[in-house]
Amino acid sequence: MIREESQLALNGAEPVRKKMLPYGRQSVNDTDISAVIEVLNSDFLTTGSKIGEFESAVCKFTGAKNAVAVNSGTAALHAAMFALKIENGDEVIIPPITFAATANCVLYQGGTPIFADVDAGTLLIDPAKVDALITPRTKAVIAVDYAGQPCDYEQLRAICDKHGLALVADACHSIGATYQERNVGTLADLTCLSFHPVKHITTGEGGMTLTDNVKLADRMRRFRNHNISADSRQREEAGSWYYEIVDLGYNYRITDFQCALGMSQLSKLKDWVIKRQKIARQYDDVFESSDLLRPLSLKSNRTNAYHLYVIALNLDSLRVDRKVIFSALRAEGIGVNVHYIPVHMHPFYQDKLGTYNGQCPISEAAYEEIISLPMFPLMGDDDVDSVIEAVQKVVETYAK
Ligand SMILES: *Cc1c(COP(=O)(O)O)cnc(C)c1O
Repeated sequence: MIREESQLALNGAEPVRKKMLPYGRQSVNDTDISAVIEVLNSDFLTTGSKIGEFESAVCKFTGAKNAVAVNSGTAALHAAMFALKIENGDEVIIPPITFAATANCVLYQGGTPIFADVDAGTLLIDPAKVDALITPRTKAVIAVDYAGQPCDYEQLRAICDKHGLALVADACHSIGATYQERNVGTLADLTCLSFHPVKHITTGEGGMTLTDNVKLADRMRRFRNHNISADSRQREEAGSWYYEIVDLGYNYRITDFQCALGMSQLSKLKDWVIKRQKIARQYDDVFESSDLLRPLSLKSNRTNAYHLYVIALNLDSLRVDRKVIFSALRAEGIGVNVHYIPVHMHPFYQDKLGTYNGQCPISEAAYEEIISLPMFPLMGDDDVDSVIEAVQKVVETYAK
């Protein structure tokens, strides 16, 4: 097919879609809403029984032994860093292809995030790069299951064990995925989840940290509530007004009505992951054979929960850069996005940590090529077809 630039919506032609399809959106139905209303009519809006119920439900889903629910994924990461006693002078190794919260949680505790470059095919943290960055100050590694595919946990575990480091999973993209038949939530010492509306299940804002270690869980429970040494129920049982602040804490509490929403959402998660995987296969079937772009590579020993579906443009075969392709897709009504600007390239980290452009060349090259396509369970076949049609129309128009 001959493609003319004049046929692009960017140049005034009819768009593939009239109404913009977002890259992600929540699915909330009447059952979810009833669950929230029930709690709103009850005695406890916060610090009630729904929090423990939601934590138990996520433990059951993942196989993790303990869970601590908090009011964002960022707070979940911060709680993990606190539990591990990260402090001034400590180094924590993270990938640059992630949301800034992965770096900020280290900085909140006074530690230093150290950026290890990613694998070019998967954009997951490269275990060999992690190994090369370990110093006597290294305390932990945060592996980010980018787009929904679990990291190389076997290699990362071996490196962490050899050097006595904690392994943390930023699994904000990957609940419902597996690695060597083991669930996300059981692959690291601590696993952090986000329940933001674009993520797999939502509580509006919210997050959770999972761990098999009871001591770490207890530390995080105190941390989310100002590091008060006894919760209100324990005090009530003791018939006492007494409590102690044992360390600097925060108010990272999640509400009961959010947890009711979370539980209702969780009952649908398994089907939603299957739906996301089905959409990914529809995309893969078309895009795997393209000379102009490629999907991220998949590893055979794991499943992908597909928070995102990311394509990388083959810029050598195109006449324009990612910015033009991105704008052209938006003009066609496809709500594409870019995940992420490598964290070490932001001015704050360059000023504060001395990071620089050129530091993580694989992440930086990937950043020039990547685009996230719409991916959420409520997408119908027509929606998927419209994305494929628009992508093919745009890249073929700009092919060399
Ligand atoms: C969403 C996300 C976070 C932060 O979660 P919030 O709930 O938005 O605070 C952290 N890391 C990654 C990789 C994320 O995608």
